[in-house]
Amino acid sequence: MTDAHTVENPVPTPLIRSYRELMSVSGNRALSTALTLHAVTGFFEGLALLAFLPLAQTLGTGESAWGMTTTGWLISLGVLAVLAFVVRYVEALVGYRAAGDFIQSAHRTIGDALAKLPLGWFDRRRAGGISSLVSHQFMSAGEGVAHLLPALVSGFSTLLTVVAGLWVFDWRLGLIITVLAPLTILLLWVSQRIKKAIDARTHAAAAEVSSRIVEFAACQPALRAAGRSHGFTPLEDAAAEDARSQYRSLWISSGALALGAVSVQLLVTSGIIVSGLLALDGALPPLVIVAFIGIMLRFAITLQNLSNSVVGIEMGRIPLRQAREILTAETLPEIETASPLPTPGEIEFDRVSFGYSPETRVLEDFSMRIPAGTMTAVVGASGSGKSTAASLIARFWDVDSGTVRVGGTDIRDMPTSQLMAQLTMVFQDVYLFNDSLWSNIAMSDPEATDAEVFAAAELAGVTTIAEVLPEGWQTVVGEGGRSLSGGERQRVSIARALLKKAPIVLFDEATSALDAENEANVLRSVDALRKTSTVLVIAHKLETVRRADHIVVLDGAGGIAEEGTHEALFTSGRRYRDFWDRRAAAQGWRLTAT
Ligand code: ADP
Ligand code: MG
Repeated sequence: MTDAHTVENPVPTPLIRSYRELMSVSGNRALSTALTLHAVTGFFEGLALLAFLPLAQTLGTGESAWGMTTTGWLISLGVLAVLAFVVRYVEALVGYRAAGDFIQSAHRTIGDALAKLPLGWFDRRRAGGISSLVSHQFMSAGEGVAHLLPALVSGFSTLLTVVAGLWVFDWRLGLIITVLAPLTILLLWVSQRIKKAIDARTHAAAAEVSSRIVEFAACQPALRAAGRSHGFTPLEDAAAEDARSQYRSLWISSGALALGAVSVQLLVTSGIIVSGLLALDGALPPLVIVAFIGIMLRFAITLQNLSNSVVGIEMGRIPLRQAREILTAETLPEIETASPLPTPGEIEFDRVSFGYSPETRVLEDFSMRIPAGTMTAVVGASGSGKSTAASLIARFWDVDSGTVRVGGTDIRDMPTSQLMAQLTMVFQDVYLFNDSLWSNIAMSDPEATDAEVFAAAELAGVTTIAEVLPEGWQTVVGEGGRSLSGGERQRVSIARALLKKAPIVLFDEATSALDAENEANVLRSVDALRKTSTVLVIAHKLETVRRADHIVVLDGAGGIAEEGTHEALFTSGRRYRDFWDRRAAAQGWRLTAT
């Protein structure tokens, strides 16, 4: 599925630009300086290597080469070594500043971008991805700035210097290196690529095993009830696959390593053979050839580092691409100043059409008005657009045509803060902060007293959750609230809504079967919320539906099939009656009085 908000840039962005756009101005400057310095060190290193050739020549012949005697060349080598040392020191300082800036600014840049994205952008999958992106993936991308880019630049600089220098010194040596170096880099790159790809696959298989183990543990009650606590096939399959993949990887990555080693050997050996032949020919003095072989040996290390950094940088592309996706995602136009609200608490859909993609419409010419202070229940088949309608009120997305009004004003004519101040949302997929149970409620009204927080929690039934948790109210709920059940998370979310007392409450009731106690809490809370707010509830429980002042039945084709009070619809609404009967059967309800 492609939605308009994740369109891939068809032209790959140059990697360096992906890094740069995540960094501050001063960080960018530090990076430029660091890379320039690395180019300089690379050059010095190349020169130092090359200096061995004339040095060998002067040693062999006793005469000066290029105007300098042995002593002169030795002194030059010393000077180069000192220079390289000084530059290295400076570049280490600047380089770390650039890397530190990357990690800091990337977090800030991404954070700022996320704050501007439409709420609809954040689904659960993405929420998980973002947390891994900003936690460890950026650290490894920072590694790219600190080590890999510099290694790449200095490696190339050395490479170019040595190749150019050899051509100047003797064209035959130049030719040897020009042929061999690219070949070696290619082979090294291939071997590294294979190895990294294999590592990634092994990790995936291992991750599969660990998630199967979690599943196995989580499903224990069900498995035992079915008498199947031994021989859980998915786990066994995953373990077998993991073992196979480990074994395969071992073979392939050994092969890849061998290829890498062979390619270096190839470079050195062929260098030795060809230059040895030149020496036998008398074309070059033996000492120079010895120096050349020494250069080749040292040069092989440079090539190895170079290909390592290329592969490392390639691996860093993934978080950078995700970051780009966030930075380039479409944002909703937003105005700065608040608009007057002629009818506070009112919600209105005025001929709204909306679809997640142009081909499929979820709402089509949809109109509905919910007067302030009333409670409306929306019912309809799964996929008929109930949750979508609720999220359009909170401007998760902008409508394709028509208008959504809150408080009598087009929501596009309000800043997000003005819209959000009027709403609370209790949605199905409640994502809690990895903070204490108490803070997760109190956050919805920072001014609230402890007594108010407690009252809201009590009403929503969170008190009973706190009672059984090891550290009570101070228990940390885990990222997203994963240590609580779905029903419990929704209760926390209801408590937030009760505390915030916004003029409008959007409530997407959990579809999962709630236990009786949970259901009682929800109903009590809804009764309390409707006293202070307009309530729009996407209802699955008959009790909730029956309480509503007005019921809207969606037709599954983007419009409204029937609407009215429970009494009116129950007697004359075919669809509603249908809905009611099926739910009643599912819930094992017998209707005694309406
Ligand atoms: P309901 O709440 O009534 O079950 P939804 O509003 O969740 O229905 O979904 C209406 C339609 O829109 C469904 O076909 C669903 O698959 C689709 N849909 C819902 N959310 C998204 C989304 N984020 N991206 C693309 N399609 C979606
Ligand atoms: Mg829904």
